[in-house]
Amino acid sequence: MAMRLMTGRASRLLKRQQEVIQPFKYLLVLDFEATCEKDVPITTPEIIEFPCLALNTQSWEVEKMFHRYIKPRVNPILSPFCIELTGIMQETVEDEKHFPQVLEDFCNWVERNDFDGDKSAFVTCGDWDLKVMLPGQCAIDGLAVPEYLKTWINLKTSYCEATQHYPRSLKDMIARLNLPPQGRLHSGLHDSINMVRIIEALAKTYKAKLELTSTC
Ligand code: AMP
Ligand code: MG
Ligand code: MG
Repeated sequence: MAMRLMTGRASRLLKRQQEVIQPFKYLLVLDFEATCEKDVPITTPEIIEFPCLALNTQSWEVEKMFHRYIKPRVNPILSPFCIELTGIMQETVEDEKHFPQVLEDFCNWVERNDFDGDKSAFVTCGDWDLKVMLPGQCAIDGLAVPEYLKTWINLKTSYCEATQHYPRSLKDMIARLNLPPQGRLHSGLHDSINMVRIIEALAKTYKAKLELTSTC
């Protein structure tokens, strides 16, 4: 047992000393917020915030950003719980476009910036955003899920591979990495910014390679 621990620690130390070349030049950090109710799963959650930050893994700068609020169609009135959780007000979504138009704008943004090729990968915290929420939203609107949104990096898995601990949440990763919490938890944009900081810490401190982990 002791031998195995020593070997594990030694190999992790060796890993930290090596230079890491990231497999993807751009990490497209995405975090949806959706309509919700307190304590009850709702039948048709709809995406109300759609942020995506393009992080350059050579400069560690966020080079481009897509950020939209979305007006829900099936249940257009946000619950008090949803407003409290996400900080998204009814007025914030009221004059926004519905999801099909926003997805089209997003796809144009992705393609215009060449983020649909093999130099880029999407990153989400957990698998819910791209395994559950996006396919669910596309089903509501009768849309096909774009091919490049069918594989992604689950940041919790990458975190676990780097630190040997599977995190409970974004907040948990922030705390364990000793990063000062920034912004408002459950704001899609702030959650995405915090994910960028976690990715940078994993790459720089743990020499983690951000590789694809998930598919649907
Ligand atoms: P997050 O990215 O963790 O902010 O969560 C994404 C979405 O999951 C939120 O916009 C909500 O729709 C739902 N959600 C997150 N936490 C809760 C909660 N405690 N209760 C109900 N829904 C939640
Ligand atoms: Mg999230
Ligand atoms: Mg969030």
